[in-house]
Amino acid sequence: MTIWTCATCAVEHPDTEQPPASCAICTDERQWVPASGQRWVTRDGLEAEGYRIVVRGLEPDLFAIETDHELGIGQRGLLVRTPAGNVLWEPPGFIDEYGIREVEELGGVAAVTASHPHLTGSSIQWSHAFGGAPVYVAEADARWIQRPDPAIRLWSSFAEPVPGVELVQLGGHFPGSCVARWAAGAGGRGVLLTGDTLMVGADLASVAVMRSFPNYIPLPERIVRRILDAVQPLEYDRIYSAFRCIEADAPAIVSRGLERYIRWLRGDESED
Ligand SMILES: [Zn+2]
Ligand SMILES: [Zn+2]
Repeated sequence: MTIWTCATCAVEHPDTEQPPASCAICTDERQWVPASGQRWVTRDGLEAEGYRIVVRGLEPDLFAIETDHELGIGQRGLLVRTPAGNVLWEPPGFIDEYGIREVEELGGVAAVTASHPHLTGSSIQWSHAFGGAPVYVAEADARWIQRPDPAIRLWSSFAEPVPGVELVQLGGHFPGSCVARWAAGAGGRGVLLTGDTLMVGADLASVAVMRSFPNYIPLPERIVRRILDAVQPLEYDRIYSAFRCIEADAPAIVSRGLERYIRWLRGDESED
């Protein structure tokens, strides 16, 4: 049996002899299937192609877990180290012995989670490598689980996989889209891991929310407002989104970015 991983979204699928006919994540209107068609990869195949896990420090107690050779949409996993155990956020769609050893040296994995179904990667393989660590999935997105497993724990609204790391459901991109707040991050000022829930702009001075980023489907005002209202009470200073980081003063940037988004939705901005 083989674990099949979609080459486009890097989400793992169940052990079956033949690969699935299609990837439900990629045939959804929020994603895409390449013009060349659906392609599947396996851990052995990727290893033979030279893929490997790379671990690097981002700030004290926060590490990027990435693949050398881009996989899926090229996202990075994040490992948050806490005295009560580590949280693995949005692991890559690949795992190898080197990565397991490196993460073991950093204290292992107490919980695995992600902002939404696109970025779950090889969550179950990572969980199994660390004693079946619980994999937190928002109940609102349970229908997108591609590889069911006893390690999966459904949650709703709020969860605290380990003390000091809180999951807060904001919705938007997916109904269960969430952020993780790491209270001790950024020197104690607080960090939000946002994945695709709040996307940091290329200018590193703005954020946006979308139903689909690759297919340019916006969100309605009431949902943007709900996200803004839910994120405003959270204490944090820094954001790590799926690809980029806002180092400081992130709450003001989130408020400005989402208020601007609402003004454009309402037609209150000038076109010049
Ligand atoms: Zn896919
Ligand atoms: Zn996404």
